[in-house]
Amino acid sequence: MIPRGIIDIECLPLTPVWTGDASDDSSRRGYHIRETGLRGSIRNWYETLLRGAGLTACDPSGQSCIYDPQRGLSSICHACQTFGCTGYSSRVRLEIDGAAGPGVLKELRLRNPGKQGHRGWRVPASLNPKFRLKIVPLHAGVDIEGLLLTLRLIEKYGALGAKTSHGQGAVRFQNLPPANARHWQSQMVQCPAKSGIRSPNLAEMIGVWFRLSSLPTQLPLSGDLPDFNISTQSAWVPTAPLIRASLRDTLRSAPVNDRHRIMGTIHGWGDPKRQTKGSDVHVTHAYRTGGAWETRIFAFVPQSNNAGDRTIRTVLSELAPLSQRLSQALGLSADITVRAEAYPDSISRFLDSLEDGSGAL
Ligand SMILES: [Zn+2]
Repeated sequence: MIPRGIIDIECLPLTPVWTGDASDDSSRRGYHIRETGLRGSIRNWYETLLRGAGLTACDPSGQSCIYDPQRGLSSICHACQTFGCTGYSSRVRLEIDGAAGPGVLKELRLRNPGKQGHRGWRVPASLNPKFRLKIVPLHAGVDIEGLLLTLRLIEKYGALGAKTSHGQGAVRFQNLPPANARHWQSQMVQCPAKSGIRSPNLAEMIGVWFRLSSLPTQLPLSGDLPDFNISTQSAWVPTAPLIRASLRDTLRSAPVNDRHRIMGTIHGWGDPKRQTKGSDVHVTHAYRTGGAWETRIFAFVPQSNNAGDRTIRTVLSELAPLSQRLSQALGLSADITVRAEAYPDSISRFLDSLEDGSGAL
């Protein structure tokens, strides 16, 4: 049974949850998690789930829906039917309680940059304490089941908030009510809706969990962040820059625009407006779980003939060389074991896997 009324969920950050915007001075101080930031992130994942399940989601950054009272719900996409759009108010409010931010951003650089001309990364200083996330339905008939599945998707395969390509936002949800993806899908296909765009789409998601028996006491990083020296007290370690640099290396032979499109860039990449491009490849920092360390890499890559897309798909699907690459990037000694497990390889397996509450691996 899907609960009615307010759903109150506890969110335990495993790596720092960041909702800031680099141009925003208050968020630079990192004192708070912003509701608008989490809402945007949850909406993005909800859209990814909808598209994967054959349902519809428009592009809110481009041509978002406009509600037409004559045509009713068929004038807007399934995502706007929950989160609202021009002429149609949101059906749900998300509230957060007790959400402290992850502190200021600190500079971090590779100690052995090799051919990487990178200027460094900015990583939050600390892990946020746990906080509460409330889903408040504002109208009858809101898609609570879809939102619960979305949170399961974030917890198991994704990350929450901003900068998830650079390590932030791995979370665990406690007391998340169960939901049934097949039931949800069968209900939702009966709701009329406007068509939307195809990406990002859960059907294009490829990813790997890694479980590491240990980590070295020091990673090959330098900078202002104290936590890259690993102690028994460390709950997370900023490993994402090392893994990202190594993944970017695998695309050296791909055309430069493909590399920038896939891994992201702060420079223009053939775009006349010289916009930045976010990464399609996401890497969490390492976080402690049980007696081991875990990290995940996930990406949204279409099954296309593009050389860059094919390369990154191959890199992320060949687990033995990928584990080897990860070991090298982190400077792991031979006695540290790396166990890799691939994400589901079909949309139906993804959907089925969202029903149980078990975590990765
Ligand atoms: Zn829409």
